[in-house]
Amino acid sequence: MRYVRFQVGTHVAYGVLGGDIVREITAPPYGPYKVTNQTHKLSAVKLLSPIVPGKIVAIGLNYKSHLGTREAPKVPEGFYKTPTSVIGTEEAIRIPKTALHEKVHMQPEAEMVFIIGKRAKNVKKADALSYVLGYTCGNDVSARDWQQHDLQWWRAKSSDTFSPMGPLIATDLDSTKMQLVCRINGKVVQEQSTGDLVHGVADIIEFISSAITLEPGDAIYTGTPGSPGDIHPGDVVEVEISGVGVLRNKVEAEA
Ligand code: MG
Repeated sequence: MRYVRFQVGTHVAYGVLGGDIVREITAPPYGPYKVTNQTHKLSAVKLLSPIVPGKIVAIGLNYKSHLGTREAPKVPEGFYKTPTSVIGTEEAIRIPKTALHEKVHMQPEAEMVFIIGKRAKNVKKADALSYVLGYTCGNDVSARDWQQHDLQWWRAKSSDTFSPMGPLIATDLDSTKMQLVCRINGKVVQEQSTGDLVHGVADIIEFISSAITLEPGDAIYTGTPGSPGDIHPGDVVEVEISGVGVLRNKVEAEA
């Protein structure tokens, strides 16, 4: 299945995508929902972030190619991103005025994101994948100087617009075989298989759910490979995952 969330006029709904037709469903894709007779052409709707997460956990240092001289964490190292930082495809990443004023280095982080489909607490690795609704592209936008010098990552990783997700949620993918690519202005700056994750999806669910309850719709960013380049107002960042599609966001200065 390919799930979207979209807007037509003032109407916002979830839908299933078949070809270029969006068919509305009555509730978020983790359900239960009913499929309606209401359809739209994909070109006639504005896609929104495919889910409205109650919480977002992001895993850091989860590809060897991103570690540099750092050691790989023995367990998935999570931090929180705010739901208010989420935007969808084709929405603008806005660099905060304060970051522009301080000439903070801004970078994208292309990440595979998985969405929780049912409540998960103390889940064992062997059962963990049955708690996944599906997968989408994510960008863990990072204000590097704030990340290095602030005591916490609250604004470095969660300023408004710092969590692009989309364009859709694809189910039934193999989380160890997706090709993850990041492009800045069309130039490839990150490219890696999700098979290279230090801690895979099942490990992450087992570890996170040993401490906190994961709820349907929660989003988990799984980490970024390599070394992404800097972004500036006017740039266009694309995150592409095979089987999902392209998440595309222009970079702007906060007005
Ligand atoms: Mg990240």
